[in-house]
Amino acid sequence: MASSTHPSAPCAACKFLRRKCIQGCVFSPYFPPEDPIKFTNVHKIFGASNVSKLLNEIAPHQREDAVNSLAYEAEARLKDPVYGCVGAISVLQRQVLRLQKELDATNADLIRFSSNQNTFNIPQSSGNNYPQNPHALPPNYGTYSWNYDP
Ligand SMILES: [Zn+2]
Repeated sequence: MASSTHPSAPCAACKFLRRKCIQGCVFSPYFPPEDPIKFTNVHKIFGASNVSKLLNEIAPHQREDAVNSLAYEAEARLKDPVYGCVGAISVLQRQVLRLQKELDATNADLIRFSSNQNTFNIPQSSGNNYPQNPHALPPNYGTYSWNYDP
């Protein structure tokens, strides 16, 4: 949590709103005077009174996360007034899809290269045409007499 209010320094919200930062100010733990942009952005997008109402409605241990979400959304909304966070999310989703495809292609290459490597390591015995799958049955399976009576 942010450091508690210094008596001589009003929080960024109270400084911006030109009011006295009283003890127990709902903004002061989340809007330190060192970071005035955070409050300015949140105020531009959501309005100080809405933020104050919201902070009073939620449990104190959730307020910091709520303020950080509001600050993130406000910043995104100022950069991209149409899509806000959704713009950033869809860019990241496209990036994930692209990287997933790249990973799949690389894994396929790896499998291809490692199976080529195995072919080189297998001693080439004459005329032996066993399948690559070690669990597959040899081609002459069935010519053995098993003496098995079900
Ligand atoms: Zn304050």
